[in-house]
Amino acid sequence: MAGAQPKTIGELRQSGYQVVSTKEEMRRNLISRIKKNEEILPGIVGYDDSVLPQLQNAILSGQDIIMLGERGQAKSRILRSLVNLLDEEIPIIDGCEINDNPYDPVCKACRDSVEKHGDAVEIEWVGRDRRYGEKLATPDSTIADLIGEVDPIKVAEGRYLSDELTIHYGLVPRTNRGIFCINELPDLAERIQVGLLNIMEERDVQIRGYRIRLPLDVFLVASANPEDYTNRGRIITPLRDRYGAQIRTHYPRSVLHEMDIMEQERTKFTDEQYEVTVPPYMREIVAEITRLARRSPDVNQRSGVSVRASIADFESLLANAMRRAIRLGERDVVPRVSDLPYVIPTLSGKVEFDTVEDGKEDQIIEKLIQGAVVAVFNRYFNVVDLEEVVTRFKAGLATEVSDTMPSDRYVTMMKSVDGLARAVAKLEPGENPALIASATEFVLEGLHLNKRLNKDRVAGKTQYRG
Ligand SMILES: [Zn+2]
Repeated sequence: MAGAQPKTIGELRQSGYQVVSTKEEMRRNLISRIKKNEEILPGIVGYDDSVLPQLQNAILSGQDIIMLGERGQAKSRILRSLVNLLDEEIPIIDGCEINDNPYDPVCKACRDSVEKHGDAVEIEWVGRDRRYGEKLATPDSTIADLIGEVDPIKVAEGRYLSDELTIHYGLVPRTNRGIFCINELPDLAERIQVGLLNIMEERDVQIRGYRIRLPLDVFLVASANPEDYTNRGRIITPLRDRYGAQIRTHYPRSVLHEMDIMEQERTKFTDEQYEVTVPPYMREIVAEITRLARRSPDVNQRSGVSVRASIADFESLLANAMRRAIRLGERDVVPRVSDLPYVIPTLSGKVEFDTVEDGKEDQIIEKLIQGAVVAVFNRYFNVVDLEEVVTRFKAGLATEVSDTMPSDRYVTMMKSVDGLARAVAKLEPGENPALIASATEFVLEGLHLNKRLNKDRVAGKTQYRG
């Protein structure tokens, strides 16, 4: 809205501006994006054929939305991104706590002001970022937090009629004419659920026994763990019925999606003196670890394994590669198989184990890592093609690797073992010693996990032998 933006209710009226409900506004903007074939929710990966079509249908049909899914499935992120479907700016009565519609204010202060000054009342334009609120529900969330509170002293003095009460507004009214998201909805006490329902359906609410009219325009969305949601009694039936669209999220269905999310979400720094390169197989291993954890009987699958586990693992892996490059004075930062143990402490903090004796967690994660390495290795190689390398080891060769070994040493090693250079070349490391080091370790570990080489661990180093 360039140029002379209306500054008073009168000017707004003259401009012909129409106020529509939040749902109508989002629907109109969605329709225009679909028509123009524009991206609807930027940065949401892997949901093009599942979640996103359902979400669009819900908005087109004006339904309230609840996202059901285990943790780390981008539920909150998707709900937050709905803000992009709001207008860039909308007019409210200047200074109003609950973003009152200039043509039809709700709060007492605005109603009084319009009564007194009419069309001269000033308006303010608010951006879409200010029209989103969210709350993590807990059993001790209160009506006061979410909806509001009346001044108990004034009530006691009997100074106000119930519809004239001055309310201290809670989070939901403060998001009036916007989107409010309640995360983990089933954790709200039943009484609070009733309060929310009343606000949405009857447009009034009981506070301290007073029935208060509060005709809000809030697009109420929520997220929940599917198991809590389906659990009888955790959510009151009329509130459940209100959610027209129950959209089930899921973990990335393909390794590629998991890898894309890792790359997109990892914390990035600009280190001009270092060049970070991640071979595709290393990225794939990290994604595969998470995928195996999601199927492991030792991991609590009810709480799930978040995509955040992949992201954090990836960051830890890169950190160890970076630390090596700094210490060895190498420019290239390339993660190797021998960096993978540094993922263990990270992943331990991201998954819940089912009935496991203390100290076993590390072993479980180590198994997951091995499983991931062998699965990825077998996508790149056929072990029978590497017999030449195995033969050399069977003839008495032994070789050491470690996460602190300079990259050049691997170049020498690769050249001295028959067949190894050819295997490494399949991974296309070019002439880059750090990439050659990573590829060499991947081949040796892959052969070991396919039971073609033996491996010993001595004093921080790993030795492969025949
Ligand atoms: Zn107001």
